[in-house]
Amino acid sequence: MEPSSLATSDSWIIIVLGSCTRLLNFLKHQWSAPLPHIRSVSATNRLLAALPRKNCEQLLVNCEQIELIFGEVLYRPKELIPYVYFPIGSSISLEMPINGGAGLEVKLIGNEGMLGITLILEVDVAPFHALVVGAGPALRMTAPLFLRELERSVALQQELKHYLYVSMSQLALTTTCTRFHVVEARLARWLLMTHDRAQSDHFHITHEILANMLGVRRVGITKAARSLLKQKLINYRRGDITILDRVGLESVSCECYQADKEIYERVLG
Ligand SMILES: [Zn+2]
Repeated sequence: MEPSSLATSDSWIIIVLGSCTRLLNFLKHQWSAPLPHIRSVSATNRLLAALPRKNCEQLLVNCEQIELIFGEVLYRPKELIPYVYFPIGSSISLEMPINGGAGLEVKLIGNEGMLGITLILEVDVAPFHALVVGAGPALRMTAPLFLRELERSVALQQELKHYLYVSMSQLALTTTCTRFHVVEARLARWLLMTHDRAQSDHFHITHEILANMLGVRRVGITKAARSLLKQKLINYRRGDITILDRVGLESVSCECYQADKEIYERVLG
């Protein structure tokens, strides 16, 4: 289904709850016919929820909801950006490939952010590899529609400029973290960040993907995961991770986890 047809489609309409719950009332007033098959989403995207109501509504009618699949590649470096994504229960890893192979994770995007922010700089080519590492729902909009909405909404421009600032700061923070902090602390940080985005105590990730994302050998991930397991902070079995003690995990993580959150809250909170 074309995103632009969402507003008039009889099939389904996406409602984002949270600060945008008023959208339901808005939609009911906009269409005289009953709305069939309204499906609600029990989570929200914070960037969309923070927008003024009218801007949020305008964006949502141009979005379609999709289910992101674990391992799906959304962007490849140097290729055109076809869509922007607003995760609402999924997470996406931005990675910089090295020598044509798996690279290093430079940013994790979940319901606090969006994929495709470089479009606001009028660059329509992806700078990073974008890999789905947390399956779940997301809202998607074509790049042309997004640029049209961006042009006509000052509020959206302002918010996304702030998000770009946050993203740049987080990229720098992750680079420093990778250079100076030990694998166990970095793994704890990644698990906390994923826990925040997954909105669940359980999620799936393999040793191989974790090793690629953190830029270490698999044996390094195995050793760090065993340590967290021994401390009863997590449970880990065949890629299925359960967070058992979040407070304990925070104490093991490097300070970059809190610094990352503080950057976001200071600029966008
Ligand atoms: Zn760190």
